[in-house]
Amino acid sequence: MSAKNQQKNYKLKQNWYSKNGRNNQGSKKGQSSKMSKKAAKTSKAAKKPPVRVSFLGGLNEIGKNITLIECEGDILIVDCGMAFPDGDMLGVDLVIPDFTYIEQNVDRVRGIVLTHGHEDHIGGLPFLLAKVNVPLYGTPLTLGLVENKLREHSLINKVKMNVVNAGSTITLGCMEVKFIHVNHSIPDAVAFAIKTPGGTLVHTGDFKIDCTPISGDTIDLSSFAKVGDEGVLALLGESTNANRPGYTRTEQMVSDSLDNLFKKAEKYRIIIATFASNVNRVQQIIDCAEKYGRKVAFSGRSMVTYMDVAGKLGYLNVPKNTLIDIDMLKKYPPEQIVLITTGSQGEPMSALSRMAYSDHRKVMVGEGDFIIISANPIPGNEKSVGNIVDERVHVRRARLGSRLPGGAQAHAPSGASEILHPRPRRAEAPAQARGAGGVFGHG
Ligand SMILES: [Zn+2]
Repeated sequence: MSAKNQQKNYKLKQNWYSKNGRNNQGSKKGQSSKMSKKAAKTSKAAKKPPVRVSFLGGLNEIGKNITLIECEGDILIVDCGMAFPDGDMLGVDLVIPDFTYIEQNVDRVRGIVLTHGHEDHIGGLPFLLAKVNVPLYGTPLTLGLVENKLREHSLINKVKMNVVNAGSTITLGCMEVKFIHVNHSIPDAVAFAIKTPGGTLVHTGDFKIDCTPISGDTIDLSSFAKVGDEGVLALLGESTNANRPGYTRTEQMVSDSLDNLFKKAEKYRIIIATFASNVNRVQQIIDCAEKYGRKVAFSGRSMVTYMDVAGKLGYLNVPKNTLIDIDMLKKYPPEQIVLITTGSQGEPMSALSRMAYSDHRKVMVGEGDFIIISANPIPGNEKSVGNIVDERVHVRRARLGSRLPGGAQAHAPSGASEILHPRPRRAEAPAQARGAGGVFGHG
């Protein structure tokens, strides 16, 4: 069958749903059910139903990841993220996807499955859920972070949240979704194997293959291999840094670099800027602080929130008496302090920026400070990071310790592709993905 004919059939099917509504399917039962059953069987053997994949964000951009998968009238949503505004978006606090299509088809949406708790994957949820009521499915840490957001937006009593652990499978409409454990900079991250009547799709989420991860198990490659053996129609893979050859280093290497920096900063107060959501990196910093007998304080609202949720759910291991309130900083000599702060991207309102520009109520950066930026600038943020570094190094004469690699977006996509060997896209392939086919980029 040609791709053109298939599109036509698909459109007819969509019209049928929009006229009758999915729930009316049963009312046709009386009309020669035997014949229709036979016809359905024959046509099923002839061809599988089409699967449609569309993206309301996350392609060719960093942030606001959201993918829609549709089959037999059911819609499954994977992630619902936000993006941070770039320097040109004056007066914009955050960027969210356009939800119009979801609002118009909400009766067909069976649920939202979440890969992990980073803002670019869950940050858009409160804005979508204020408009539509759809159940959420995610791992414990991811939903813990979502819960916090929903509480802030007074949505907590409205939304049904379902905790699903890696390794489990749930059924949403005509689709079966298997949660597969992956390594990432935040614990409890998963990929999805989505079994639809039209074939199986794999959505990797953000991932890396780390044989010595900071927390939890190594990525569940055997589940990926099993799905690959059964046949994969399309692999939707995260592609940040995918054009770099080779493999991403294990997070354990960062621990060694951190250790060296702590040794170098022996006489100074250490200020480390990283992503609030990079729970694993914060854990590494806490471990190092413990080793060198330093107290740890958090600065920045999102940092405090993330660490509170991760700590309560047991994803952050802080030794007793290591954590101190930021108000207690003055009670300790500088060389016994590590301040972990937001602002690794030079965001103007972040704690680090405010410290650098002498606008922070509790912390002034000065000569006795050793500063570590523990994240690579996200493409587009280099200038703001550059500004903040200049401000501190030249004006305040603090020591810029080092920049550690990001790790937040470090992956080995080629490995996933080798294991899953997704079907190459052909004109007659049943999946008619809008925009792209085969391996999709996912920012
Ligand atoms: Zn992520």
